[in-house]
Amino acid sequence: MVARGVIPFMVADPAVWSHQQLLKITPVTPASPAKRPSCATCMRPQSACICQWITPIAHGVEVLILQHPLEVDNAKGSARLLHLSLPRSRMVTGEVFTGQAWLLAPFEAQAAAENPKHNILLYPDTQGMPDDKALDMPAPPVLAPALLQDPSQLRLIVLDATWRKSRKMLYLNPQLQQMPRLSLQGMPASRYLVRKAHSPDQRSTLEATCAALMQLERSVEKFQPLLTAFDGFVAQQLGYRAKR
Ligand SMILES: [Zn+2]
Repeated sequence: MVARGVIPFMVADPAVWSHQQLLKITPVTPASPAKRPSCATCMRPQSACICQWITPIAHGVEVLILQHPLEVDNAKGSARLLHLSLPRSRMVTGEVFTGQAWLLAPFEAQAAAENPKHNILLYPDTQGMPDDKALDMPAPPVLAPALLQDPSQLRLIVLDATWRKSRKMLYLNPQLQQMPRLSLQGMPASRYLVRKAHSPDQRSTLEATCAALMQLERSVEKFQPLLTAFDGFVAQQLGYRAKR
């Protein structure tokens, strides 16, 4: 299913797919390709294609989605819809990230070399929680307000994982520990009814990222269409569950 002519644009954008060449990620192939042809864009079975919900957003902050391998086949996951809707996003699958390529793979090589981005990790505020000390992790640097002046200079790093796995990813990756963090507070309740959250504050990767981008780019309106589309995505997933 091709929706609103957005697919050719997304596929033709080499930046969107560059991480696959970079990290030599093998595309996920369906278990029985003959019976269940999959959509080349969202990689789901064609009968469960979510491409109609792709909503391109003209955002400024670069987004790097680090997807835990256990999330790759999670049909309820929202990260791919997020990635396909944000032209300046990359999605990399893994648990441990070494070197710099995963982080710095540029959208415009020249511009990136001359103009390095400030990385910000989207992560809950764990200060005061015993976890950080138990895991022997240093406190992250303070997010300096001056960094937030120009959204086009920012790269938001998002972990697509369960709470437990996101802690593991943080623990295993000192580079992530050394980034200033953005935590979300006082956001409206999650629309994400599909997946049982561990706490009322926990929301989908797509919702959390939109909330962060609204804050960083100081615009709610810009990201509202994607949240509206996400409602449709959630309704589709609930529909599948009801049929089972
Ligand atoms: Zn699709």
